[in-house]
Amino acid sequence: MSEPMREAVAAAAAPVSAVTSARLTYRQLTLAAVALLALAWGWLPDFTVTLLNYIGLHALVALGLVLMTGIGGMTSFGQAAFVGLGAYATAWVCTAPEVASALQGLPPALLPWAGLALGLGLTFLVAWGLGAVTLRLGGHYLPLATIAWGLSLYFLFGNLSFLGGHTGLTGVPPLSLGGWTLADPRALGVLIWTVLLLALWALHNLLDSRQGRAIRALKSGRVMAESMGVDTARQRTRVFVLAALLAALSGWLYAHLQRFVNPTPFNINIGIEYLFMAVVGGAGHLWGAVLGATLIALLKEQLQDWLPKLFGMSGNFEIIVFGLLMMWVLQRYADGLWPTLAGWARRAGVGPAPRTLPAPAPLPERPLPPAGTVLLDARNVTKRFGGLVANAQVSLQVRAGEVHALIGPNGAGKSTFFNMVSGVDDPTEGEVLLLGEAMTGRPARDFAARGLGRTFQHVRLLGQRSVLDNVMLGAHLRGRRGWLASMLRLERHEEAALQADALRQIERCGLAEHAHSPAGALALGQQRIVEIARALAGHPALLLLDEPAAGLRHREKQALAALLDQLRREGLGILIVEHDMEFVMNLADRITVLDFGTVIAHGTPAEVQRDPRVLQAYLGDDLGSGGAA
Ligand code: ADP
Ligand code: MG
Repeated sequence: MSEPMREAVAAAAAPVSAVTSARLTYRQLTLAAVALLALAWGWLPDFTVTLLNYIGLHALVALGLVLMTGIGGMTSFGQAAFVGLGAYATAWVCTAPEVASALQGLPPALLPWAGLALGLGLTFLVAWGLGAVTLRLGGHYLPLATIAWGLSLYFLFGNLSFLGGHTGLTGVPPLSLGGWTLADPRALGVLIWTVLLLALWALHNLLDSRQGRAIRALKSGRVMAESMGVDTARQRTRVFVLAALLAALSGWLYAHLQRFVNPTPFNINIGIEYLFMAVVGGAGHLWGAVLGATLIALLKEQLQDWLPKLFGMSGNFEIIVFGLLMMWVLQRYADGLWPTLAGWARRAGVGPAPRTLPAPAPLPERPLPPAGTVLLDARNVTKRFGGLVANAQVSLQVRAGEVHALIGPNGAGKSTFFNMVSGVDDPTEGEVLLLGEAMTGRPARDFAARGLGRTFQHVRLLGQRSVLDNVMLGAHLRGRRGWLASMLRLERHEEAALQADALRQIERCGLAEHAHSPAGALALGQQRIVEIARALAGHPALLLLDEPAAGLRHREKQALAALLDQLRREGLGILIVEHDMEFVMNLADRITVLDFGTVIAHGTPAEVQRDPRVLQAYLGDDLGSGGAA
């Protein structure tokens, strides 16, 4: 990690250490601000209320984008189209004569609610379908696809005659809620902000849960998340659908605020504006959506006044200025403006409240297989990369209660083998059995579910999240509660159990004092130990460790050896790739030696050390004297 990166990560850690010193918590500050807004609402000038209403509507869309883009790592330019779906659905239901005749029994006051149901239903289907097709696309294809559907839906709105073409639909009635008619923007604004605050609360809860950890893991790539048991395709689709539903909800409110709809506000340039809001506010922070929506609204207001005067003619000049400003903000504040604001708050003594959890619920336990059980059975595994044979007919068994070392020079094919026996990659030929079950073609998360835990040669942690958070991700499969329970905070007992267990693993790995530090601030050797703790949090029967001792000091290596010995006595099976020969020879029960993808020797440390092929081909005279291979 580069020095500035380490500093940035250390800075991000500050709120964690500020837990106890905060004079005022974020929650108290938020509640005070909400109370103030509520008290002032009746007295604010009409103009301010209108502005706040639009900020609320835009923030709702940007909120979905923060979740999707900033946290889940999927960029969308097409959210405006979903706003349009929500707005057009209700406008059509409320104004079309054919709907009126079809829903004759329905009191007119309920029509907007039917419109909401249609809007959310349609959006759900469209987003699900689009997600299934486009979320598989990697790299820049997803953002491009979002532009494509954004444009398509926009032109669809403008070209369907039953939606009024480019003129749109007029005569949308106001909402009414329990006998109250929300015709006055001031009245509807209460609903808009209530919806926004509820959405913020629910998403905050979601991110602070097991499901939230899975969502955050998406950004660091498929391999790590799947190895922790996360169904990444499913999580991505859900995030995408949720963001679309928030946009549709905003569209529904918008239609009943504006009382007419036409295609203009759902164009792709508005979609880009929503992305501006999320990114400028702070794409990784939920409140960044509100900040971004506020800044853009105020700025637009000012620019639309000033720019035409400046240029002496009218036009959409603000788009140009937005573009330039966005470049400047991203250059100067890569994570948006929210972290800067949070920094000011911190200096003023505002910080997060300590996390309080109820008594832990019991977690499902899986007894370890008896010692000697064959956990991993790789049979004649071959892997070819084009013409290169990285593994040739490798057979290897790992039993419960033993440490099996896989050694060999760089490029021998050890990591390739690891990937095949952990479901990251499929063998070209041969078979991998886990606890007796053939695993060919199954994803890494199925391996994890069957009791395999692993670490990576190149550490894959969420550097900005705490060690505890990272380790809890490893326990993903031990929890059961879903998205809805998480949003409503109904999974706190389970969360408490996961946290308690993760803390135990952190402690036994000797990282207790770092539990609340961001993982990225630790030395690389310690980050490897965090990966071991994360693997242990899943309570695996089989542990795969790819060079766990690299970067550790002598003392730390001894502690690691003691830990692995302890795990072996508890009955785990451990497959370890390691270059430190002293470490391997003292620890391993059996050793398999790979060279150019082929097994050249196999046996106890003593047998392998005597094997002439090993001595000649690979280990030379250093064997047994502690020299690295
Ligand atoms: P080790 O972990 O023993 O150092 P690896 O398994 O990483 O070795 O690599 C074995 C061989 O396979 C190397 O020659 C490497 O270049 C090659 N290799 C590994 N992964 C790929 C890949 N995805 N595509 C092509 N070649 C690869
Ligand atoms: Mg390797």
